[in-house]
Amino acid sequence: MLEEGTLSMELIDGKEIAEKVLEECRRDIAHLAESGIKPGLAVILVGDNAASRTYVNAKDRKCRELGIHSVKLELDAAVSQEELIATIEECNRDDEIDGILVQMPLPEHIDESKVVEAILPSKDVDGFHPVNVAKMAMEDASGFVPCTPLGCQRLLTESGVEIEGANVVILGRSMIVGKSLALLLMQRAEGANATVTVAHSRTKNLSKITRRADILVAAIGRPRFVKAEDVKDGAVVIDVGINRIDDPEAKRGYRLVGDVDFDAVAPKTKAITPVPGGVGVMTIAMLMANTVKSARLRRAGD
Ligand code: NDP
Repeated sequence: MLEEGTLSMELIDGKEIAEKVLEECRRDIAHLAESGIKPGLAVILVGDNAASRTYVNAKDRKCRELGIHSVKLELDAAVSQEELIATIEECNRDDEIDGILVQMPLPEHIDESKVVEAILPSKDVDGFHPVNVAKMAMEDASGFVPCTPLGCQRLLTESGVEIEGANVVILGRSMIVGKSLALLLMQRAEGANATVTVAHSRTKNLSKITRRADILVAAIGRPRFVKAEDVKDGAVVIDVGINRIDDPEAKRGYRLVGDVDFDAVAPKTKAITPVPGGVGVMTIAMLMANTVKSARLRRAGD
């Protein structure tokens, strides 16, 4: 329950914005169908990590809902790097597959970067291939931007948040989230042109830095790490974190919380994303959007 002073706070509804993205996908899929094209996504799961399986199943379900051809490839945890790369190469050659995603993390004996580099850049809908990273850094829109950063940007633009000229502080510097989002929001483009600061575990005076943020993005994987005193009044807060905490009263025995102490921080903000129901739902929607984009670029010559 939010207290007095929260009346102007906007809850950024990831579900609603994701639905808008999916509606655009449906429109594009219908348009492609007129030319006999059905976008296709191959998701490769190695081993039996429960969280990875949940993500893979959710992606498969969403593809089917939208009418995207979905191929789920499950490989044993002991699969060799060569076998995994051979599977990827098969998908590279398959014209009905527009997007290839290898669910991370991979078992330790496999070199993740070698695996990512085996994916054709034109089918790398996760946007992790060095060619796509370079395209993002060079502001070449023909590449693929990783889904979570793309989802964060869309949440901001759809909520009418002014990004241009804003002081954006991003907590976390992973390629999957923090560093990629920094590259994206500093582009000379619409929905970007921000002044970006990236903080990480070695940053000094963290709270002083976060308090300068007009837009604060938390992507560190530490439950409720960001407290009210770390946030400027009227800031916009995007919480990327997904952390499981034990809760015997919850159906599954755990609950998901973000990297932001939502109850304490929300009343100070202009707008904030909830967890769940914020960035997470956007990530999967942007994956669908990237797959449709790939089909358009590869097969419809858009
Ligand atoms: P990583 O573990 O790869 O990176 C975490 C980053 O946070 C690192 O850069 C690390 O710094 C930094 N960090 C860790 N602790 C602190 C600290 N105390 N102070 C400042 N910085 C810190 O995580 P990911 O980027 O993959 O994920 C981050 C979170 O986002 C997780 O909760 C994850 O579950 C979630 N996530 C959510 C997605 C979604 O769809 N909503 C998608 C992907 C991730 P250093 O580099 O110095 O180690």
